[in-house]
Amino acid sequence: MPPSTTYDSLTSEAIANLRASFKGALLRPGEDGYDQARAVWNGMIDKCPALIARCTDAADVVSAVRFARTHHLLVSIRGGGHNVAGNAVCADGLMIDLSPMKGIRVEATNQTVRAEAGVLWSELDQATQQHGLATTGGTVSHTGIAGLTLGGGLGWLMGKHGLACDNLLSVDIVTADGELLTASETRNEDLFWAVRGGGGNFGVVTSFEYQLHPVGPTILGGMILYPMEQAKDVLRFYRTFARSTPDELMIFAALLNTPDGTPVVSLIVGWFGPLTEGEQHLKPLRDFGAPLADLIAEVPYLQHQVMFDAATPHGMHRYWKAGNLQDIKDDFIEVVIEQATRQPSPYSTILFFHIKGVAARIDPAKTAFGLREDQWDFDIISQWTDPAEAQTNIDWTRNFWNQVEPYTKGVYVNHLGGEEEATRVRAAYGPNYERLIELKTKYDPGNFFRLNNNIAPT
Ligand SMILES: Cc1cc2nc3c(=O)[nH]c(=O)nc-3n(C[C@H](O)[C@H](O)[C@H](O)COP(=O)(O)OP(=O)(O)OC[C@H]3O[C@@H](n4cnc5c(N)ncnc54)[C@H](O)[C@@H]3O)c2cc1C
Repeated sequence: MPPSTTYDSLTSEAIANLRASFKGALLRPGEDGYDQARAVWNGMIDKCPALIARCTDAADVVSAVRFARTHHLLVSIRGGGHNVAGNAVCADGLMIDLSPMKGIRVEATNQTVRAEAGVLWSELDQATQQHGLATTGGTVSHTGIAGLTLGGGLGWLMGKHGLACDNLLSVDIVTADGELLTASETRNEDLFWAVRGGGGNFGVVTSFEYQLHPVGPTILGGMILYPMEQAKDVLRFYRTFARSTPDELMIFAALLNTPDGTPVVSLIVGWFGPLTEGEQHLKPLRDFGAPLADLIAEVPYLQHQVMFDAATPHGMHRYWKAGNLQDIKDDFIEVVIEQATRQPSPYSTILFFHIKGVAARIDPAKTAFGLREDQWDFDIISQWTDPAEAQTNIDWTRNFWNQVEPYTKGVYVNHLGGEEEATRVRAAYGPNYERLIELKTKYDPGNFFRLNNNIAPT
């Protein structure tokens, strides 16, 4: 691997040459907008790129990639900036910042949309809902479509319509040799296979074309909150009930604190079938236990999509651990409840994201996202505000994780943290890892795109 160029050795002349062909802003340390551009969702991330290339279109991305090759720069790719490990930013290298690329074009008659790589889910949802359409997107609307889709993309519509990556029809992508390609089922098919789950390993995707589906304008959604004392019974009920429901009904579970500081266990629901049928499927849930509050109601789909936004603001300090659960066992539940009582920060959340329906039934070989079975993505999401509390929160998360890891198998690649063992990264790609290595070797033999959950070429 060639040595990376640093800030000191990147000359003004080289940058002036790049500027001649680059339409967006090129930011160096100390310049206006530099600190704003390098800030990402996780407030713990504080890395200083030698140069930030704020791309405005695919041609800018081509220029940036070629520049980085010429100068042997380490490259990071920023879409929405939500990756918890902060892989969107690099120290000393070139940050390819796609966030200015906001183009969205809905083709309502074909039920498709093409969106550029800087688009956030809130922006895509608003544009598609104008036509009564949507595709599977993230559950927090300020997440980028890019990183989320390339890693798979779990969301409320996955039971009915598959993952975000399952709804991809094509991408435009700048590969490591600086060429702009289109990849789809009929063009560069192997590359199209790889980007649907292989993350940012294969190039810089400049735009995404998705299949859309009629959704809304209203759906049945919200949450039921139970006191923490009922957590054991609620989670036991949940593990069975969630699996007994149709693809249109998604239920996630969370242990969290309400804004007034009350610890609760919450079942969070979205029904995406005909409204008249929803109540009947929800009845066993609504009849269960003695909830503190039942907040499930008919709501606009757009409102449902922003339900978690307020609890996940930009800039807080974060540390995550995640793994997939094929079952939620009794003794696992005991550990989770016990750990929840020790949680140092009231902002942290323990989350069960149910992967089911179409997302679970697709052939694991069809796309690079290989972990296809009915299971839960289990997340310990630590969040705190005071940097001095970092060690306490990290220690709690690690200790919790050490106790629950033996119950997990595999992990969702987009929920890996920054300090993961190679075996964990490999487990995230599951049965498709070997083919991904072959394709990485074909499209990026020098591992130019390596600031990610890396698939090393041979
Ligand atoms: C609050 C929150 C909620 C979340 N909710 C969900 C959820 O509901 N469902 C879900 O599936 N995941 C969820 N995630 C995880 C999310 O999928 C990842 O954090 C993902 O990386 C976010 O994409 P981004 O573009 O915002 O991230 P960035 O940090 O910008 O990018 C992450 C990585 O993706 C790659 N990448 C980004 N853009 C491109 C591109 N255009 N071309 C090539 N590679 C690129 C790069 O390797 C980059 O390092 C959530 C994360 C957070 C923080």
